[in-house]
Amino acid sequence: MEQRVWNFAAGPSVLPEAVLKRAASEMLNWNGSGMSVMEMSHRSAMFQSIFDHAQAQFRKLMRVPDNYHILFLQGGGSTQFSMVPLNLIGRTGKADYALTGHFSTSAAKEAGKYGEVHIAADVSDTGFRVIPEQDELCLDPEASYFHYCANNTIYGTEWQYVPDTGDVPLVCDMSSNITSRPVDVSRYGLIYAGAQKNMAPAGLTVVIIRDDLILCEKEYTPLMLSYRRMIDKQSMFNTPPCWNIYILSLVMDWMEEQGGVEGMEKLRNERSAMLYHVIDESKLFHGHAEKSARSGMNVTFRTDDPEIDARFVKEAAEAGFVNLKGHRLSGGMRASIYNAMDPEGVKQLCGFMESFEKKLLGE
Ligand SMILES: *Cc1c(COP(=O)(O)O)cnc(C)c1O
Repeated sequence: MEQRVWNFAAGPSVLPEAVLKRAASEMLNWNGSGMSVMEMSHRSAMFQSIFDHAQAQFRKLMRVPDNYHILFLQGGGSTQFSMVPLNLIGRTGKADYALTGHFSTSAAKEAGKYGEVHIAADVSDTGFRVIPEQDELCLDPEASYFHYCANNTIYGTEWQYVPDTGDVPLVCDMSSNITSRPVDVSRYGLIYAGAQKNMAPAGLTVVIIRDDLILCEKEYTPLMLSYRRMIDKQSMFNTPPCWNIYILSLVMDWMEEQGGVEGMEKLRNERSAMLYHVIDESKLFHGHAEKSARSGMNVTFRTDDPEIDARFVKEAAEAGFVNLKGHRLSGGMRASIYNAMDPEGVKQLCGFMESFEKKLLGE
């Protein structure tokens, strides 16, 4: 393959080309150090400057208030399914979970090992096509926290509002939509995200945590899963994922040049509007998510025939649009259109979808 493809992978996923080029140019010799970032001591002043820049840029772009810590951890979004209850459920012994897809359901199951889980909402009976409304949430005022997943990567649904849970802190999995639109961080107790969808390579997990939430960890919490320990050690209790943090810093610089999270939101709206328009006009393709719950990051759709779906995925790949096969749990197709996806790629995919339909159904 001579050329780069249009990559609609759900994660790991597309990164800004400018970032990849910059990393390539600095690969052998970062900033006159005579070595690559991968070869540096994480305790060196050089690496510390990269780390500090990544963190400061993330804080600035996400407007993270001063009473919140930003952690760079490992273990993916999935490790947070355990780390959150280990550190937070001890406050009252119970927690609320909203089940809106695969990952939030896994998170609830994991939390059940460490406390009493109360299901505040469950939309599995709709095939995870909808997001519960505020008045459908069954809230326990004594919950240690309320956990939800802001964007359901597999089913292609997204919360369009921030739930109001009174004094119960909000904990949110933002793995697949973080930095794609402005977020009022002060409404949350804790936000976590695996970085490999919108921000960096796989292997880095970013956590934003309010400083009063670190007081209830279970006594048996493993050292590596303690927020308090990681805060004390400024994410460097052990070797952090240095290279990923470096790429994150470059992605944050790129985002800033594109107008920050507001710039990302504009691109996000442009991309998703094009795709949903084609789906709405189509006689062949149907969207999976109900309109009010549609994700701006993962667009899920299908035809009525799994064989035609397979043919679409295959022919699209031959035409340079790759990774459009839906997740095995939802079937059909999924176009993941994260921050770094050029709207031009989406425009061309829309053209491909329309001509596929015309060829199949006739003019
Ligand atoms: C991908 C994803 C996860 C799992 O992330 P890993 O880094 O693979 O553990 C969790 N939650 C959401 C919303 C995701 O999209």
